[in-house]
Amino acid sequence: MAEEITKEITNEPYIKCDGLVRIYKSKGIEVMALQGLDLEIQKGELMAIIGRSGSGKSTLLNLLGGLDTPSAGAVYFGGENLAEMNYAQLSDFRRDHIGFVWQKNTDNLLGYLTVAENIEMPLLFSTMSKKKKRERTRALLEAVGLSDKENSFPTELSGGEQQRVAIATALINEPELLLMDEPTGAVDKKTSIMLQDLFRSINRKLGITIVIVTHDISLVDRVDRVVMISDGKISSERIMKDEFRKKLEAGEDLEKAPDVQGEEEGDSHEEYAILDKAGRVRLSENMREMAGITSNRVKIHYEDGRIVIHKEDGV
Ligand code: ADP
Ligand code: MG
Repeated sequence: MAEEITKEITNEPYIKCDGLVRIYKSKGIEVMALQGLDLEIQKGELMAIIGRSGSGKSTLLNLLGGLDTPSAGAVYFGGENLAEMNYAQLSDFRRDHIGFVWQKNTDNLLGYLTVAENIEMPLLFSTMSKKKKRERTRALLEAVGLSDKENSFPTELSGGEQQRVAIATALINEPELLLMDEPTGAVDKKTSIMLQDLFRSINRKLGITIVIVTHDISLVDRVDRVVMISDGKISSERIMKDEFRKKLEAGEDLEKAPDVQGEEEGDSHEEYAILDKAGRVRLSENMREMAGITSNRVKIHYEDGRIVIHKEDGV
């Protein structure tokens, strides 16, 4: 029995969202931003959560980072329920384990500090020596490709460079999880691809788990797993195919990859629908259209090891 329990605990995913609900109340109106969202994230993953504006992405990210508490459901970190931590424990947890890159750049960087000072900001109350702090900062500047900008001010940098500084700042405490909200939202396509390569290298070289929330569908091509969020729930999931990953990691066709994917869906990733705990599955608008499903009733039957869903007869 004891053995069984241990086994169960060690099998816990790194992060688990269990039936997350988040209701906002403002001016007497309730908005259900998350509607019973289930999601598991493994240690070391590079993943993106993609959805339209208003689908609940930022809400989810705040819950994952322990900045907000759910109205119902729970977020578990290594089996531990974040809601059971007190305020001090939660703030230690955030400082020790999590790096954030916010959607608004002004939330990431202070305009009156240099690049190096910005990156060192989270170490303000640390007992680390000045020399050690500068060493770490320089290593991070090198990792994000900005060694020559140490003494520049944020306003002297391009949007992409500012994002790199924001990432370095988020990494200074050596977090194990990096959470990013729309990190490519305000940059051009070329810069976006450069940033995506940076995410991958941070993930692979530093072994940091990365979760990106975004509406930027081009991110699909360069992360290992994509989950689609709509109306506060996970609707489908795409997992990168091994052959594509090998090509990407060998540096092959890097510039071309996003276009190839755009034209020929399914080349880089395998797509899955998500079955929720009650056994429900969502049929996308596109799928329903293709199958001519226009009413809210469908026929389901079993056939040769498959479950077939089709429109009701005579509609
Ligand atoms: P996304 O990041 O995907 O654009 P959000 O998580 O920011 O979506 O928002 C999800 C839904 O919750 C939206 O309908 C939004 O208007 C609402 N919402 C978000 N934050 C608040 C808040 N503080 N008060 C009231 N409603 C909010
Ligand atoms: Mg958002």
